[in-house]
Amino acid sequence: MLPVGRGGSFLAPRPAFFPTERILIAPPSMLYLFDIDGTLVDTGGAGMMALQEATREVFGHEGPALDLAGSTDLGIIANIHAHFEIEPTPERIAAYFEAYQGRLDWNLANGNFPGRVYTGVLEVLNELSKRPHATLGLLTGNTAGGAASKMRHFGLAVFFPFGAYGCDHADRNRLGPIALERAAAHAGKNFTPQETLVIGDTPKDIACAHAIGAKCLAVSTGQFTAAALEAHGADHVVESLDEALAWI
Ligand SMILES: [Mg+2]
Repeated sequence: MLPVGRGGSFLAPRPAFFPTERILIAPPSMLYLFDIDGTLVDTGGAGMMALQEATREVFGHEGPALDLAGSTDLGIIANIHAHFEIEPTPERIAAYFEAYQGRLDWNLANGNFPGRVYTGVLEVLNELSKRPHATLGLLTGNTAGGAASKMRHFGLAVFFPFGAYGCDHADRNRLGPIALERAAAHAGKNFTPQETLVIGDTPKDIACAHAIGAKCLAVSTGQFTAAALEAHGADHVVESLDEALAWI
């Protein structure tokens, strides 16, 4: 027997104002730009160790203390060169990146660092990948090679067909426009700031999102607390990415 609605008949007549023609509304396109370290993965020190080893290999000495949070690799090696009072020529930068890449790959493969993918990352990436109007990319301070190694090592490479990297520019705020250009080339359409969300774990990710007029979803899995990220103007803060599914 058919259930009977509250009004009496199950097949109640349509109200006069109900549109008879179907209205098709395309879901909005969205571009999601993810940071890597502290946001997607923790390399367990493999990345920091690779920088320290590359510095010893290239300069023959211990380098300065490094502030990696949200920094670009080009910015980091400019600081290392400044510490040794050596001009960072393109040749020296290339040689440093080569040393770093070799150390990073070895550390990830053999170094026994306690790396991990953060809670909720796979759930969010799988969910976004199912959405036909979602485009995913990287916006990271890592070099392109470093980013590729980390994403391959942790099984996430499949989610990220393009990115803007720390070898593209030393200033993270200049990486947003590069990411938008590459997203457009990849997806065949331009994304507006309203259609772009940056996901990261540091104040530098927030600044970099706002520099292109985009919002930033900040996650407190890295070095910064939720309160600190809020104080730096994050548009939404979560403690792990699984809490973000409803919001994105
Ligand atoms: Mg980070």
